[in-house]
Amino acid sequence: MNQWQVDLATMQSDAIEHEVIHQSFAAELSERDRGELHVHMNGAIPVSTIQDILADELTELPSGFLIERDLVRYTPCQSLASYLTPWQVLRLFPKKRENLDRLSLAVVASLAENNVRFVELRSSVLYLATLQSCSPTEALERLIESSRTASDRFGMRLGLILTVTRGDYSSVALSALLQAYQDLGEPDDVVGLDLAGDEEIAYPVELPSLYRKAKDRFGLGITIHAGETGRVENVRTAVELFCADRIGHGTAASKDPYLLDLLARQDICIEVCPISNRLTGAVPADEAHPLLEFRRHQVPFVICSDNPAIHQRGLADDDATAMTEGLSANDIYQQFEVAKQYSFIEGLE
Ligand SMILES: [Zn+2]
Repeated sequence: MNQWQVDLATMQSDAIEHEVIHQSFAAELSERDRGELHVHMNGAIPVSTIQDILADELTELPSGFLIERDLVRYTPCQSLASYLTPWQVLRLFPKKRENLDRLSLAVVASLAENNVRFVELRSSVLYLATLQSCSPTEALERLIESSRTASDRFGMRLGLILTVTRGDYSSVALSALLQAYQDLGEPDDVVGLDLAGDEEIAYPVELPSLYRKAKDRFGLGITIHAGETGRVENVRTAVELFCADRIGHGTAASKDPYLLDLLARQDICIEVCPISNRLTGAVPADEAHPLLEFRRHQVPFVICSDNPAIHQRGLADDDATAMTEGLSANDIYQQFEVAKQYSFIEGLE
C-alpha cells in the first residue's frame, strides 16, 4: 500500500466508524423516554385517520382544499396564515362520539411511537361541544373518557390542557370551560389552561385575572402562547399579568435580555418547538434559533412538537432538529427530566 492508499483506507475506516457511531447514537436517541408538554390534539392526528373520519362523517372539504397539499406542512410557510391552512379542515370534525375515541387512540399511538411516556394534550373543548352538539360539560366529559381509554391502552400518563382562543369572547369561553370543569368535580385529568390564537388580536381586560383565579383556586398550570409572532410584550404580559408557569414558543423573548433574566429568575419554562418555529417563520431562515440564547441566560426550556402530524414528524425529530440548532446530545438526554420538572401532571416517576 502506498501512502495514498493508506490514507484512503484510514479515511474509509473513519467514515465507517463515524457512520456506526452516528447510527447507534440515532438509535439510542430515538429510544429514549420522552415527555411532551406542548402538543395540540388536532395537530397530532395522522392523515389516514383524518381521511377515515371525514369519509365516515360525510364531511365536505372546503372548495379548493387538497388533502395532500393543504393538510400537511413540510417546508417553511410564507405566513402564519398559510401554516394554519390545515385547520380549515381540522375544525370540521369529529362530529361523532366514536370518532373522538378513534382519533384519541390514533394520537396517543403516534406519541407512543416516539417513546412519549407522559403528555399534556391541548384541546379546544368548546369547538368539540359545537361539533358534537352537546354542552361544554358533556364535551369535556367525552374528551376525558376517550383520552383516558387511549392513554390506559398505551400505558402513558396524560393530562389535558384546555385551550382558549384569543379574541373578544375569550373570557366568556374561559368561564364556560371552568364551569364545565367544576360541574365534573374538578377532575385530575385536567392539568392546565392555555391561551392560543392570533397574537395580534386583543383580549378582554378581565381575562388575565380569570387565569390567575383559576390558578389560585384550582391549582391549574398556566401556559400562554406568546412571542411566536415577534411580540416581545406578549411574553412579558403572559408573565406579569397571566402569571404563566410556562410560555409556548416565546421566540421573541430572545430580543430582550431583561425579559430573559425575568424568565430565568421566575423559573418560567419556554416550550421550544424547533420544527414548528422554522415552518411558521417564528424563527426566520437566516437567523439562529434562540434556544442557545435561552440557555445562555439560564432560561429553562423544553423541546416539544406542537403539531407533529401536520409536520409529518414526531418529537424524536424535534429533538434531532434541536441538535442541528445547537443543542448537545447531553442537552437532549436531559430533556426527559426537564419535561418532568416543568410538567403540570403530578406524581410523574
Ligand atoms: Zn402551539
